[in-house]
Order: sequence, then structure tokens, then C-alpha cells
Amino acid sequence: MADSIFADGWKANPYWWELAPRPEWPVIDVPKKVDVAIVGSGYAGMSAALHLTRAGRDVVLLEAKEPGHGASSRSGGMAGSGLKIGYSDLKAKYGQQRAVDMVTESERSLEFFEEFLAGEQIQCHYQKVGRFIGAHAPSDYEAMARGIELVKKEAGLETGYMIPRSEQHTEVKTDAYHGGKATLSGGGLHPAIYHQQVLDRVKQAGIKVCAHTPVTAIARSGKGFEVTTARGKVLADNVCVMTNGYTPPAAQDLRRRLVPVGSYIIATEEIGEDRITDLFPHHRMIADTKHILYYYRPSPDRKRVIFGGRAKTRDIETRESGEILHKFMCGIFPELKDVKVTHSWTGNVAFAFDKLPHIGVRDGIHYALACNGSGVVKQTYFGYKTAMKILGKPEGKTAFDELEFTTIPFYDGNPWFLPIVQRWYQFLDARAN
Ligand SMILES: Cc1cc2nc3c(=O)[nH]c(=O)nc-3n(C[C@H](O)[C@H](O)[C@H](O)COP(=O)(O)OP(=O)(O)OC[C@H]3O[C@@H](n4cnc5c(N)ncnc54)[C@H](O)[C@@H]3O)c2cc1C
Repeated sequence: MADSIFADGWKANPYWWELAPRPEWPVIDVPKKVDVAIVGSGYAGMSAALHLTRAGRDVVLLEAKEPGHGASSRSGGMAGSGLKIGYSDLKAKYGQQRAVDMVTESERSLEFFEEFLAGEQIQCHYQKVGRFIGAHAPSDYEAMARGIELVKKEAGLETGYMIPRSEQHTEVKTDAYHGGKATLSGGGLHPAIYHQQVLDRVKQAGIKVCAHTPVTAIARSGKGFEVTTARGKVLADNVCVMTNGYTPPAAQDLRRRLVPVGSYIIATEEIGEDRITDLFPHHRMIADTKHILYYYRPSPDRKRVIFGGRAKTRDIETRESGEILHKFMCGIFPELKDVKVTHSWTGNVAFAFDKLPHIGVRDGIHYALACNGSGVVKQTYFGYKTAMKILGKPEGKTAFDELEFTTIPFYDGNPWFLPIVQRWYQFLDARAN
């Protein structure tokens, strides 16, 4: 089709897999007995595995598909410290001290992440370019400005500064926002190379990774657990469920506390560094304040636009989502209307009903779940925290301990209500602007 928005040879796979192809992984036997069995080989599972192994624990990573099949090799690669819930809402719900602890720890998680990259000598195109959050409505601009001041006053943290609408082209060349908030910390990386290099460290540490080994049941056995997989059983003193937006029925008690949501992304064809720098003068990661937000950025080589969001209220094929996201992108950058899409893909994130990260132990099973759309930094960090908890170390304590991990009656993990909720969000977004 002459007017197709797709480039010849477009792919329904992540752009990231071009430089970091999916690993060919040998099928190894499931061990009979380990100290810790970890379900899921994303950032969270691998981070926990590395820290446990270095403390002398015998660990197996059990993965349903190939390593990194989940969100960790598909994400937007935006690495930041923020939480989905703002400080004043946290304060209203948990009180000032706990809210301060949560935002402080959240900032700390980014420091941890950067130390982790440096310590492991991971080269994943991490660029500390910061982030800009566009205000969808004037009231969002005011709320972000108040938030910055309050966090500064009560937590002593500098979380960014406001850019008025008249100057927003210095951040991103669009008129779609009513100004926004710039943050200098964090930045962007290549998510699949990040995953691949942590996987290399996992391999170097001698950790057993059983790929194509879906866990089908987890049951108590004596003081530990018997973990049943499609390829055999393993006894473990401890079990960690690190499956986030892919949490299976084998962990039903956790699955029913999570809302998996498909997030969609496209990569454009190369438009050259000059045009990219014109659109993104500081090459920042960009997001907005809508309920159903867009997130977008330059590719790490600064030649393409990577643009993501929830394409439709229901799950759709990646060709259709590619067309929709291209339209959304042109709403932000009209000048990209003739730029073609080379890759269009999707992956699952997991929301908790309270939109906070959840880490802890339920019925003896450890978990670090609910990235709420931002898990590059947080899931790496909470993987480490989970390891510290299993080791009984004080470093395992976090401000997110013992949050009530709620669900709703009769919910089994299949989010039938998503289209309804998202239509409501679309209505709110349309009304606000
Ligand atoms: C399209 C998209 C864009 C995103 N963009 C960003 C971003 O820009 N910045 C950011 O911070 N975050 C982003 N995220 C979120 C981030 O990618 C995730 O929070 C993070 O990768 C989750 O890591 P994880 O280890 O918890 O889970 P995952 O990486 O999802 O891994 C879970 C693993 O569990 C495995 N599994 C499931 N069931 C079983 C079973 N029965 N047995 C064994 N294994 C099983 C899955 O196959 C999967 O590999 C994005 C996510 C998506 C999908």
C-alpha cells in the first residue's frame, strides 16, 4: 500500500531485539533441590538471583519462555525514580513520615540502580538525560509545581523544576502541553541490552536458568516448598514470584491482586540526529499527566523516535496498535506524519489496585510485583530488596513493607473491567484538556 505508515519489512517485534536478539538458551534439567526458586527471569528475578547467589545461596531461575521474554526486554527503557502516586496523596493516606520515607526511598532506588550498573560494569547505552512530564491540563501544571515545593519542604528532596508553556519547546517541540516538569535525574537506556548484560552476569555467577520451564504449581512441603514445572519438580527452602504483568495461575493469590495491562510501542524509521535533537533538545525521556499517558523518547543512538502508550481500551494486534500510535505520535509531532514505523510491539505491565509497588511475603512466598508501568529501576531494586529479606538482612527493610496488597471481590486476575475503566479515563482526559 502506497500510503502505508509501515516501512517495508516492518516487524511485530521490539526494535530492541535488533541489537539484543532473544537468547538461545540451552534446555537444562530442573534441579531436584535448591535454596531459592525464583519464578520469572526479568529484572526483578535476575536481580534477586544475583544477590542471593553472591551471598552463597543455591538458586534456580525458572522461566516459562526464553529469558527476558516478559516486559524487561520490551520496555521503553526510561529509567527514573518516580512513583505513580504523588507525595500529597501518599501523605493523605499514610501520614507525613511514611510518605517522606517512600519518596526518599524512591529517589534512593535510582542511586542503587546506577551503582548496580557501575558495579556490574553494565554498558546498556544508559544516558542521564533526565525526563520531562508534560502537563495535560493547566491544573496538572499547578499540581506538579505544588508537588515539587512540598517534597522539597517536607522531604528535603529536589525532584525537578517547572517549565512554563511559553518555554516548553526547549524541552520538547510540541504544543500539546500546558508546560511541564523537568527532572534532571535518571534517563534512558537500551532495555534489552540491559537485560542481556544482567543475564550474562547471572550466567557468569553460575546460576541455573531453566528456560521454557513454566511453573504450574507452588505448594508447601515441610518447612519449604515444592515447585512444580512443566519439566519436573524442585524443592526449595524459599520461593520468589517475580512475574509482574505475566503472573500465572500457579501464583493465584498474587495474580488476583494485580491488573495486567498491555502497553504498546512503536519505533520509527531513522530520521537522523539533527531532526531528533530538534524535537528533543536535551534528548530527554518524555511522558505526560494523562490517565492514559504517552511515553516517548529518542532511541539511544538518537536516530529514531520510540513512542508508547495504551493504543486502545482492549488488547489488539500490533499492526493495528502501530497505526494508532503513529496517529498519537503525529498529534504530538505533526511533522512526523510521513515518517514510517519499522517496529510495533507490546508487553504487559502490572498495576496494583493502589498503584504502589508491592514487596513482601504471602503464605511464605516472597514477591516483588506491581511496577505500575515503571519497573526498569524499581524492579531491579526490589529484586535486591527481596534477596536481602530472604537473607534476613536489615537492608531488606523498605518503606513499602506491609502495604495492604488489596484485590476486589470475585477478581481472578483477568481484568474484564479494563475497557470500562479506560473509557472513564479517556473521558476524564478529554474533559481536562
Ligand atoms: C511496552 C512496555 C513499556 C515499558 N516502558 C517502561 C519504561 O520506559 N520505563 C520503566 O521503568 N518501565 C517500563 N515498563 C515496565 C518494565 O518493563 C517492567 O516493570 C519490568 O520489566 C518488569 O520486570 P519484572 O522482572 O518484574 O517482570 P518481567 O520482565 O515482565 O518478567 C516476568 C517473567 O515471568 C515469566 N513467567 C510468567 N509466568 C511464568 C511461569 N508460570 N513460570 C515461569 N516464568 C513465568 C514471564 O515469561 C516473564 O519473562 C514497560 C513495560 C512494557 C511492557
